[in-house]
Amino acid sequence: MEDTLFDKILRKEISADIVYEDDWVLAFRDIHPQAPIHVLVIPKKKWAGFQAFQSASPEEVGRYIQGVSAVAHALGLDENGYRIVWNQGRDGQQTVAYVHAHILGGRSLHWPPG
Ligand code: AMP
Repeated sequence: MEDTLFDKILRKEISADIVYEDDWVLAFRDIHPQAPIHVLVIPKKKWAGFQAFQSASPEEVGRYIQGVSAVAHALGLDENGYRIVWNQGRDGQQTVAYVHAHILGGRSLHWPPG
């Protein structure tokens, strides 16, 4: 698998504004925020994209999803809500081949997305 920018952030070779870390996930602020709160959550177990989940351990996938929820909680977003986005592949505008959830919050978000 390609060694991506997010691999380097996980290894702390590239600095990032880290807001949360546990045994399963690392979360850091997006460098080009699209909302007052815009945080990316990556699993410490690397998958390039959603297609990998078909053969992934349900335990590891579940831990990742729980981590995304924990990050949103730590950011204080539980009460007002937030949006979670996973861009997938070319049509989904995924630019980094390392699964990452976007957590967007801090304002009322528009729907539908573009
Ligand atoms: P995606 O388009 O879903 O692959 O999302 C990649 C995201 O990574 C974009 O929202 C970028 O703004 C963000 N990004 C790129 N470089 C960095 C960086 N060095 N630190 C934090 N976020 C980054």
